[in-house]
Amino acid sequence: MEKLVSLAKRRGFVFQSSEIYGGLGSVWDYGPLGVELKRNLIERWWRSVVQEREDIEGMESAILMHPKVWEASGHVASFTDPLVDCRQCKKRFRADDERIKGKPGEESAQCPVCGSKGTLTDPRMFNLMFRTFMGPVEDAAAQVFLRPETAQGSYVNFLNVMQASRQKIPFGIAQVGKAFRNEITPGNFIFRTREFEQMEMQYFVKPGEDEEWFEYWHEERMRWHYDLGIDPDKLRYHPHGPDELAHYAKRAEDIQYHFPFGWQEYEGIHNRTDFDLSRHQEYSGKKLQYVDPATKEHFTPYVVETALGVGRLFLVVMADAYREEEVEGATRIVLGLHPSIAPVKVGIFPLVKKDGMPELARNIYKELQKLFAVFYDDGGSIGRRYRRQDEAGTPFGVTVDGQSMTDSTVTIRDRDTLKQERVSVDQLATYLTERLQP
Ligand SMILES: [Zn+2]
Repeated sequence: MEKLVSLAKRRGFVFQSSEIYGGLGSVWDYGPLGVELKRNLIERWWRSVVQEREDIEGMESAILMHPKVWEASGHVASFTDPLVDCRQCKKRFRADDERIKGKPGEESAQCPVCGSKGTLTDPRMFNLMFRTFMGPVEDAAAQVFLRPETAQGSYVNFLNVMQASRQKIPFGIAQVGKAFRNEITPGNFIFRTREFEQMEMQYFVKPGEDEEWFEYWHEERMRWHYDLGIDPDKLRYHPHGPDELAHYAKRAEDIQYHFPFGWQEYEGIHNRTDFDLSRHQEYSGKKLQYVDPATKEHFTPYVVETALGVGRLFLVVMADAYREEEVEGATRIVLGLHPSIAPVKVGIFPLVKKDGMPELARNIYKELQKLFAVFYDDGGSIGRRYRRQDEAGTPFGVTVDGQSMTDSTVTIRDRDTLKQERVSVDQLATYLTERLQP
């Protein structure tokens, strides 16, 4: 894990927030390569969940919402209890949880989940939501929250989206956006952070068909992670037991990855029933119902949610891609990222800085730049330039050498196999495009 964090900083994937001031607890910034990788992950999700489907619409709701939203959703009430955290397994409990043996905060107190002793924090009155004030007056009437999830923005816009897009049930609303939770025990690099980004999809279904759709999304989401090239041996489902279920959920399941710090959730699939829509009907007084066009039957839809953390997915692909291997007696670090999400697709190198090689390499750079993210590097030995791109996860390296100047061919080096092929400059774009398909 330390190696991954160190690579992330060294190569400009992730920096600590406000580092020159000593950092801000569990808040992170994405650097030049990190922001590209993150955008590629979001783009891949959006493409498969929204653009390639007729039954799902995208939207983007604001981070600030009417404070009543959070009363209706249960977030105001359910997060103001005295809570204790286990420093070992990171589970959070109500301080009065009957399963806790002993008094939280004391050495003898025992965590009901992992069984560790002395790892429970003192009870603290805690609401997970960040608060701020809207308008010039800082009082309770002006208090608003930074959203702790994007889902509520989709629920309160259920009718707007359905009517504007003329969707019929079943259909979904997808969002990508920032959310904020004032976690008591954040940690593990970008795994648990107070500011984070979510890719959430709310799928509205007819009550009674919810179980079936849950199964569907369970399959569909895992397939998505396999397609991303993540090691299947490091992926598993974790169904929530009755004591783990959130207040709104009838059934929930995590997709977990075997991180260097153990199995942890990074995507959740939840059957949220009609809890959210019913509560918003109750609190707003507006009907949030669906009328079946065939039967004229009125009902409040059930929701099957898929919720994926962008930062967590980022950590999964980084951890899964990281490897060290011996090549010709030297250790090389490689990020074996799926080519479709690699921040840079092709490195372009003139073998030496003379004999017309930089000029030809520059021309190739300019042409390929129109198609994908490319990087030009003429500094240092060719071996060292290859190594730098290996660490950045760049799948291909194009080298302009002496022969290029006579026959207009270049070598293409494959990051993973280290094989080099000679390809004609005219064929370069086609060759690379084929190999960079999702
Ligand atoms: Zn524990």
